[in-house]
This record gives sequence, structure tokens and C-alpha cells, in this order.
Amino acid sequence: MKKQIKYYVAGCHLLLFSSLSTAAEFVCDDNIDTTTQNTKESQILWQQTLTYLSGVKEILTKSHGCDVGPLAVIQTNDGSGDIARDCVTDYQDVQEVIKHLKQVLANPDAAKACFDTQKNYDDFPLYTASEKIKSTYDVAGWLDRPTLTEFYSKTSGDMQEAGLTLAKAFWPIVTQSHMPDYLETDITANALPELWAAVGWLPLYADGDKAHNERFRGGYAYADVMSPWGLLRIKSIDGESVGAEIGMTIQLQDTFYPYHFHHPQEFYLPLTAPECGTENLFFAAHADSTLFEHSSEDNSFIIDADKATDLPAWFIQKSPNGNNFTYFERNTVHAFNAAKRCGETPSALVSVWGRTTSRNNDQTTLVCEVIEQQGGSRNAEPHSRFRCTPTQWEY
Ligand code: ZN
Repeated sequence: MKKQIKYYVAGCHLLLFSSLSTAAEFVCDDNIDTTTQNTKESQILWQQTLTYLSGVKEILTKSHGCDVGPLAVIQTNDGSGDIARDCVTDYQDVQEVIKHLKQVLANPDAAKACFDTQKNYDDFPLYTASEKIKSTYDVAGWLDRPTLTEFYSKTSGDMQEAGLTLAKAFWPIVTQSHMPDYLETDITANALPELWAAVGWLPLYADGDKAHNERFRGGYAYADVMSPWGLLRIKSIDGESVGAEIGMTIQLQDTFYPYHFHHPQEFYLPLTAPECGTENLFFAAHADSTLFEHSSEDNSFIIDADKATDLPAWFIQKSPNGNNFTYFERNTVHAFNAAKRCGETPSALVSVWGRTTSRNNDQTTLVCEVIEQQGGSRNAEPHSRFRCTPTQWEY
């Protein structure tokens, strides 16, 4: 009897082993440069990439208010004053991301063929915060990307001031991060310093003036770990398109990321919270929300929140141990208001971030347009008047 059990268990392991090692067929994007893969720096970056993805898998699957995965904030105000929440693993796009993360983590050697440090990446420039980061962290030093310090030095005004603060204080900012208490895998910059230092950062809003908030334009950057544009670029697994875009975002203290929306669904897990009285706040509502003034002629609508009455009801706190996980469905209008700084050290709203359908339709983030005040200049604030014109997607 004992022997039979032993055989059974051994057989089981064998089956498990063979299914994990042969089941997943990875197809990489066409532009993977594997020439740097065998360097020691690439190995370090790859290991920290896998840990990051493992942490994201835990975020998406560990029970936290739902049988599987987190109970996410879907809308901060559903039109009747309530917060709308839902279990994200009920959504098919999230299920696919989880499935693909599991396949990567079960088949790291096969997935590694799609890993590229982006040392020689020329689709667009990717940045490291500063020369100091390059001289402190081996992988960032070896990659030798251009710096955000140089980039922002060529800008001016409030954007430059915010951008140079972000670049200079990058490390004190990102290391203020911590995971929510219920999660075990630490994927903050404290645990994965080489990844946070060396991943390619993008100052997304510096080149466009649509955000109409100069300080925000300088004080925002994001990075892709796994995506069609990130370090790990897997086109498909077992013939299934890989839509996961997984990375991180930084939004400097005292900046407003204006109301915006996009086709791909999106999730955030904040890693920072101010330690004084103020809070990082965010807003999310569906495009057809009764909070907005809808046009009778087209799909456009006006956002015109009253500072005293609407804003306290629309925006809620975002912090690792408060409303931590948020998920935005397609075209959900969302905005982030990063709190003023508390002490001497600059701070920011730092988040784990992801999108789920990065290979479908248009990926562009569309910012609602500030409507110019007569005689005044345009500056996007939570209570400014905005016009949004979302696309009615067929799927
Ligand atoms: Zn978004």
C-alpha cells in the first residue's frame, strides 16, 4: 500500500514536471536583442524581473476581500455617492494576465528568450533617473541609459523644477515604498533595487502640453517591465496573445494627473502614503456616469466638479493599507491627486501598475481637455472644467 502511494506521488510529480516544462510555447516580439543576455548584469535584471512578476501574480491572486484576488475599487463614486467595488479575477482580461504570469513563472528558461535588457533598444529613448543612480547600481551603470536629469535640464519653468526634483530625489522617493501588510512578496525598490534603478523610465507627459499642468508634466514617469515595449516582450503563449503590460509609475508630490481614459483596462497598487495629515487621492467613474454633463449630440461630456461640494465626494484616499487595489474598466475616467509633501524629503505616489489588453486597439491615453477660462490661462486642477470625448469601442 505504501509503495503504491509512493508511485502515485512520484507519477504525479513527473506529470506536473512534464506539463510545466513542455506545455507553454513562447513566441517573442520580433525586436528582442539577446546579445546581452549572458552578462552578469542581465542575469541580475532577469532575476529581479521574475520576482517582480511573481509579486504581481500574488497581488492579483491572493485572497483579499474575494475568494481569489483583491476586492478592487472600480469607481470611487458610482453616481449615488457610493464606492463601487468588484472582485477582479471575475474579469476575463485579468484572468488572462494571471494565466500568462503563471506560465512565465513556471517556464522561466523558455520565457527568457523574450527578455531584453533594452541596452541597445532604439524604438524610443528610455531613461535612468540620474548619474548618481548609475554609479550606485551596477545594472543601471552597465546599461548607461540617458538620464532624466539631462532630459529635464532641457525643459523650463515648473516642469523643469518638478522633473529635476523627481530625477534627483528618485531613490529617496522610491524607497519610501512598502507593500500592503497582507502581501508577502516585497517588490518595492527596497527589495528589487537593480530593477527599479535600471528599468527604462519614460517621462510620458513632458513632450505634450495636453495635460495642462506643468508641475505634473515634469513630475510623472512610468516604466514597463513586461509589455510589448518593456524588458520582457512575449507576443504569445501557446498561440494566445499576451496582453499584459506590467510596470510601475511615479507621480511627484503636489501634482494633479488630470482626468483621462483609454481603451485598455488598467490596475494600480499604491506603494506609498504620506505620513502626515494629507492623503494621496484618486477618482474613477465610468464614462456614462451621472457625475458628468453629457452632450445630447455626441459621446462627449463635461466634467465640472465643485471644489467644496463635489471633490470630497468624488476623490478617495489611495494607500497601501487603505483602498489599495484599483481596477479601471475600458474608458473609465480616472485622475490622481498626489498630496503635498510632508517633510524635508521629496515624496511621490509610487505604484505597481498594469494594463491587461496592450495588444488590442488603440493604447493611447487620452487626457480630457481643460476648457479655457475667459481671460485666464489653462491649468488643470481637480475642479477645472474639462471636456472628454471617449471612443465607443466595439470590444
Ligand atoms: Zn489610466
